[in-house]
Amino acid sequence: MQAWVIGNWKQNPATSHSVNTLINDLLTAISAQESTATDSATHCQLMVAPSCIHMAAVSSRLQGSSVMCAAQDISAHSNSTGAYTGDCSAQQVADAGATWTILGHSERRQYHQECHDILVQKLTHALAQNLGIVLCVGETQAQYDAKQTLEVLNTQLTVIKDVLDQQAGEQPGFVEVLAERLIIAYEPVWAIGTGKVPTVSEVSATHHYIKQTISSFSPELAAVSVLYGGSVNAGNADSFAADSMIDGALVGGASLKAADFLAIANAFTCAKG
Ligand code: PEP
Repeated sequence: MQAWVIGNWKQNPATSHSVNTLINDLLTAISAQESTATDSATHCQLMVAPSCIHMAAVSSRLQGSSVMCAAQDISAHSNSTGAYTGDCSAQQVADAGATWTILGHSERRQYHQECHDILVQKLTHALAQNLGIVLCVGETQAQYDAKQTLEVLNTQLTVIKDVLDQQAGEQPGFVEVLAERLIIAYEPVWAIGTGKVPTVSEVSATHHYIKQTISSFSPELAAVSVLYGGSVNAGNADSFAADSMIDGALVGGASLKAADFLAIANAFTCAKG
C-alpha cells in the first residue's frame, strides 16, 4: 500500500523568499535521491500544504515533480464565490493548484471554533470541487488522561457518516469517490508541536479503531489511509513507519526542513516498500 507523508507548513515560512528556498531544497534533494535510483514515489506520496498566499507559487514550482499540493483549509460558506471576507473557497484553492485540503486540524478547531456542522459543509465543498480531504481527528491532553480518546474520535468521525448520509442518496457512486479522496490523520492535540508522542502500540490500536469505525459507515471506506501526526521527526519516523496500521505521517515542524521531511518520507518508503 502506498504511504503518504504530508507537510503542514501552517503559517510558515514568513516570506516568499523563504518559501522559494524551502521548495528549492526539497526539489534538489528529491532529484538527488531519484538519481541514486530509489523508487520513493512508488511507495511514498509526498504532499505539502503551504499558506493560501503561497499556494499558486508553490504549486507552479511543483509542476512536473512527484510532490502534490494541499490547502490547509477551505471556506465553509461556499465552494465557489461570495461575500465571505477573508475566506478562500475550494474552487479558489483548486484553481491555485491544490488537489487536496487539510480539514479539521486541531488548530482550526481551537482558534476558529470549527465544529461538526462546519466540517460537514467543508467536506461537502471540497468534494464538490474534486479536492481530496485530509481529515484531522484527535483528543486533547485532558481527554487522553481521562481515557476518552476513542469516544472523542467516534464523535469526530461522524462528520464522514453525515456527509455520506447526505450525499450518497443523491449521487450514485459517491462512496467510491469519497473512498479515493479521503485520508484520516490521527493527531493527538497534546502531541502537536510538543515533542511528546504516544507509543507506537497506542497509535496502532487507535488507527485500528479508526479503520473499523469508518468501515462501519460503508465497507468501501475500509481501505482509507490513516496517518499519524504529532511531533513526527527524522529520529522517530522509523518506529511509526514500521507499524502496519500507520499508513503515513502528517508533519508540522519537521516539514519546514527539506532534509528532515525527506528523511521521514524515506522511513515510510523503506518500511512500506
Ligand atoms: C501538525 O500540526 O499537523 C503537526 C503534526 O505538527 P508537529 O509535527 O509540529 O507536531
